Amino acid sequence: MQDSLNPFSIAQQQLDDAAQKLGLEPAMHELLRWPMQELTVLLPVKMDDGSTKVFHAFRVAYNTARGPAKGGIRWHPDETIDTVRALAAWMTWKTAVVDIPLGGGKGGVICNPKALSEMEKERLARAYIRAIARTLGVTQDVPAPDVYTTPQIMAWMMDEFEVIAGEKHPGVITGKPLPLGGSPGRGDATARGGIYVTREAAKAHGIDLQKGTMAVQGFGNAGQFGALLGEEILGLQLVAASDSRAGVYNPNGMDAKDVVAYKIKTGTLEGYPEADEITNEELLELDVTVLFPAALENVITKENADNLRCRMSCELANGPTTPDADEILYDKGIIVLPDFLANAGGVTVSYFEQVQNTYNYYWGLEEVHRRLDEKMTKAFHGVHEMHQKENVHMRLAAYLVSVTRVAEACKLRGWV
Ligand code: NAD
Repeated sequence: MQDSLNPFSIAQQQLDDAAQKLGLEPAMHELLRWPMQELTVLLPVKMDDGSTKVFHAFRVAYNTARGPAKGGIRWHPDETIDTVRALAAWMTWKTAVVDIPLGGGKGGVICNPKALSEMEKERLARAYIRAIARTLGVTQDVPAPDVYTTPQIMAWMMDEFEVIAGEKHPGVITGKPLPLGGSPGRGDATARGGIYVTREAAKAHGIDLQKGTMAVQGFGNAGQFGALLGEEILGLQLVAASDSRAGVYNPNGMDAKDVVAYKIKTGTLEGYPEADEITNEELLELDVTVLFPAALENVITKENADNLRCRMSCELANGPTTPDADEILYDKGIIVLPDFLANAGGVTVSYFEQVQNTYNYYWGLEEVHRRLDEKMTKAFHGVHEMHQKENVHMRLAAYLVSVTRVAEACKLRGWV
C-alpha cells in the first residue's frame, strides 16, 4: 500500500500536526503515536465442507489512559494490522472528543463474510473470542460491531466469553441484540449522532437543510440510517446512494425508506427502479448540501477533492478523507465534520449500553436519544469553538480537543 494511503500513517500524520500545534513534549508525542498493546492471532476454523481454514486476526488497545479500550471488530478481506491500528487510534480520539471515560481499541479479522455460511460465521466469531479473551473485559477492553459484523455476531461473541469466564458478562461487548442486554437506540446511533452534528453545523453556518439534498456513499448500517434520519430529522432529500456493487442517482429525489427497503430485500442497490446508475466517484462529486461518506477509508483524496461540490461532508465512515484532501476542502470552504466527531454516536450509545449492563436496568429509547443528543451537541460545539479560536480546519480542531484530554490523563497517571 502507498504510504500516503496507509490509514495508520495518515492517523500518525494527523496526530503529528496536532502535536506540533499543541507543542506536545516528545515523550508524550511518542506515546500517543503508537498502540500500547497489540495482539495478532491465528484462528483455525472448521468449514462446512469439513476442511479447515486459517484466518488471521488482530486486536489492538491503542491508549487506555482515560478508561478501558473500546472499539469495533471489522470483518473484511482487505483488513490489515495498520487499518486496525488506525481505527484504534481514531477510537481513542473519538471517546475523548465526546468525553466518555473510555480509551480506544479495535479488532479485525481478514475474511470475506459474504462467502461464509451462518455456521461458519458463528465458529469464526467464537474462535476469535477464544483467542483474545484474555485481553477483554469491562475493565480492560470492550468490542462492538463495525463493517460486516452484526448484533448476532456480537451475541455469539458474548456467549463464548461467558462460557470461558463461567459467569455472565453482558457488558463485555456492545451492539448486542436487545434481548441479550443491547441498548435501545444502538442500531441507528452512529448515523443519528452524525445527524445531530450536521444539524448543529448547519445552525452555526446558517445553512437551511430543509431545502437541501444528500448523497450517501456506502449503504450499510451507517449509510442507511444516515439517509433515513437525514430525511426524517433534517428534511434532506436523498438524491444518490451507493454500495460496494452499484450506485443510484435521481436528481429529483428518492424516498429513503423505499431505497433502504429495496437494499434490504435484494441485498444491493443494483437495479433500483426509480433512479439512474452512478459510479462511486461521480456520487462523491455531486452538487449536494450534505455528502455522507459511509463506506471505507481514502475515498476523498488529492485526486478528487478539488472536484467536490457538497456544502458539507459528514464523515460517518472512518478515515474517508486523506490529509492533503483535507487542506483542499478547507481552502474550498467545504465544511468537513470529521469522522471521529461525526460518527461518535455509535460508541456513545455503546457506552450507554455498558452503563445499563452494569446497572442491570434499562432506559427507554427517548432517554437514549436525549442523552446522545446532549453528548453530540456538546462535542460539536467544543470542536467548533476550537476551530474558530485556532483558525484551523475542523479535523485539526477535533484533534486539539481530544489529544489535550488524552495527554492530560496520561500526565495525571504519571506516564510521562
Ligand atoms: P456495514 O458493513 O453495515 O456497511 C458497509 C457498506 O459499505 C456496505 O453497504 C458496503 O456495500 C459498502 N461499501 C463497501 N465498500 C464500498 C465501496 N468501495 N464503495 C461504496 N460502498 C462500499 O458497515 P457500517 O457499520 O455501516 O460501517 C461503515 C463505516 O462507518 C466504516 O468506516 C465504519 O468504520 C464506520 N463506523 C461504523 C460504526 C457502527 O456503529 N456501525 C460506528 C462508527 C463508524
